[in-house]
Amino acid sequence: MALSRVRTEVRFWGVRGSMPAPGPHTVRVGGNTTCVSLQMDQELLVFDAGTGICRLDTFMQTAPVKDPNRRLFLSHYHWDHIWGLPFHCLAPGQANGLEVFGEAKDGLSVDQILAKQMAAPIFPVPLETVSRDMHFNTVRGGDPIPVNADLAVTTCTMRHPQGAIGYRVQTPGGSLCVITDHEHPDEGLSEDVVAFARGATVVVHDAQYSPEEKKGPKKGWGHSSWEEAARLAKAAGVERLFLSHHDPARTDDELQDVLQRAREVFPGTELATESTVLEL
Ligand SMILES: [Zn+2]
Repeated sequence: MALSRVRTEVRFWGVRGSMPAPGPHTVRVGGNTTCVSLQMDQELLVFDAGTGICRLDTFMQTAPVKDPNRRLFLSHYHWDHIWGLPFHCLAPGQANGLEVFGEAKDGLSVDQILAKQMAAPIFPVPLETVSRDMHFNTVRGGDPIPVNADLAVTTCTMRHPQGAIGYRVQTPGGSLCVITDHEHPDEGLSEDVVAFARGATVVVHDAQYSPEEKKGPKKGWGHSSWEEAARLAKAAGVERLFLSHHDPARTDDELQDVLQRAREVFPGTELATESTVLEL
């Protein structure tokens, strides 16, 4: 008897970079900041906790898997990647057993950094209210993070102000590589990041800028152009590329234009939107 293949689902809850961008011109792509999830049976892996994670919380209230094992992987601590975290932690049941992974910064551990986000007078409920139920794990770029026999996570250091890490998860059905905040050097693609993404089934890549913006006023801000994302997908031999971390000023129509131009470089390019759901 053939075993049925395990369903592995990837969903995008927030696809915007830097700051939320709600409004009539972003309604198709979405205005929430970065959050991507991968679910395989009882295992729920979440990448970043931008405002999009609050959509995940709502979804989980009626999701078919009632109480999955929850792991949250943080790329770094800039606002757009942790904005939704206090609300996520306080959502019913979400902090319970939550494993959080992230880098230490300036001698501060993950929980010490996140406690600052929820400290008075910035937020009314301190992290310690829920942190007893959570587990905090310090990781460094390059570290492997084994999950179970079927899921393995690896990491890679990104080129971004104050540092960031990318995550790649290998599942029996394929691999997902999440590169949210990375600036390729002007002289060419970062070889270590190309190697990190090599052969991935799905790559989610920072595509915040146009090539012109990246070479000009936004140089050094720690992000890629959509053109570099497409070139990386081609160089790394990936199956599907999802452009993400869209600039908050980019409208739905402008992003459609970006998509068409990126497909000229790498035909397997798609736009990450808040309604994107895919199977590995
Ligand atoms: Zn960001």
